[in-house]
Amino acid sequence: MSVTKILLDEKQMPRQWYNIMADMPNPPAPPLHPATGEPVKPDDLAPLFPMAIIEQEVSQERWIDIPEEVLDIYRLWRPTPLYRARRLEKALGTPAKIYYKYEGVSPAGSHKPNTAVAQAYYNKKEGVKRLATETGAGQWGSALSLACSLFGLECTVYMVKVSYEQKPYRRSLMQVWGAEVIPSPSTRTEAGRKILEADPDSPGSLGIAISEAAEDAATHEDTKYALGSVLNHVLMHQTVIGLEAKAQLELVGDYPDVVIGACGGGSNFGGLAFPFLADKFAGKEVRALAVEPTACPTLTKGHYAYDYGDTAKLAPMMLMYTLGHTFVPPGIHAGGLRYHGDSPLVSQLYHEGLIEAKALPQRAIFQGAVLFAQNEGILPAPESAHAVQAAIEEALEAKEAGEPRTILFGLSGHGHFDLAAYDAYLAGKLEDYEYPEELIQEALQDLPQVSR
Ligand SMILES: *Cc1c(COP(=O)(O)O)cnc(C)c1O
Repeated sequence: MSVTKILLDEKQMPRQWYNIMADMPNPPAPPLHPATGEPVKPDDLAPLFPMAIIEQEVSQERWIDIPEEVLDIYRLWRPTPLYRARRLEKALGTPAKIYYKYEGVSPAGSHKPNTAVAQAYYNKKEGVKRLATETGAGQWGSALSLACSLFGLECTVYMVKVSYEQKPYRRSLMQVWGAEVIPSPSTRTEAGRKILEADPDSPGSLGIAISEAAEDAATHEDTKYALGSVLNHVLMHQTVIGLEAKAQLELVGDYPDVVIGACGGGSNFGGLAFPFLADKFAGKEVRALAVEPTACPTLTKGHYAYDYGDTAKLAPMMLMYTLGHTFVPPGIHAGGLRYHGDSPLVSQLYHEGLIEAKALPQRAIFQGAVLFAQNEGILPAPESAHAVQAAIEEALEAKEAGEPRTILFGLSGHGHFDLAAYDAYLAGKLEDYEYPEELIQEALQDLPQVSR
């Protein structure tokens, strides 16, 4: 019998997260204080994050126990299924085997609750009453709203204004889970008021919304901040994805030649790929490919430099690939891939040639997503569609070369809240957009001068 869905038992769920920092060939560069340029000390981060998270951010331990309370909640949807995309393989006529790890079965519809639940848990444990955060496409805001509701925390979500207007049902979902949702830029914060003064019609950006949420947390004693991607602890929480996928492939006696993930801030890509990179560091041959939009080509066209994490320069500076903290991305539909920077861990691995990256235009990714949906049934989130299309391209390359290849990609979420984007695609209204080189050069003028 040919297996389609490879399932793990709840008992086989990972009980520890994998921390890639223990195994990286070179230690990661420290984040720097936005005002002084000195390496950030734990105390600097204390207004924003609980101590347990700050410790995880810099931990060198290879394995970190997942708390029982977090495992309990993970069990609501984990372990997630690994699928063999037999129908897609057939449609492509490829000799390649295509597997995908599906994170859309979580209540919020993406991988993001894997870290939201962990972060809410540590905040609750340290007596925090409210979490403030930003959301672009609404995926992270929903995930944190869900997690806060499960742990009895209040939640305030600054939602990038274009998304707030484009995706009313994401907002409804957050409100059902009890969150307060505010379009950003808002008049609620100093950072928001400044942006509105300069540009009353600002569509907002993740960088701006991060500034608002961080300011909200820093100015309220009972409130902390939670970030849905980019930071080391977030990517570590997401490694449950790759650890499960490895165990699932083992059940069918397979191992990937290439692991593919859509890359915005790097969390689902890192979560899936890092456990395989552990094998690569130990000498095994495996490729990892991060896929981003041509409209926000952080890895493929950005600079590897220290930059601020947000527009108002409240967040630490990190060494990463960046398009500049003033970057305001075009309104493409993969809202979750519009951040100006990228995970410092993913950035460093790319800089050192240990992973690959490619950028894809939006019409191609929707074409891939529709082909996928017509053969596999699941409607991918536009973000996830980047991984889908890259996997299709790998499979077609294998066909061209007439060689077998085992492809594993992350289907990070479903697209049920993104049907407006599919509508636009089906109506032929989507245009490809390549972020202009001049604008990249311009934004890079504003990079902080850091000597290292
Ligand atoms: C947020 C999101 C992404 C991009 O974020 P990463 O941190 O790069 O994973 C990708 N896919 C989905 C479904 C998302 O919600």
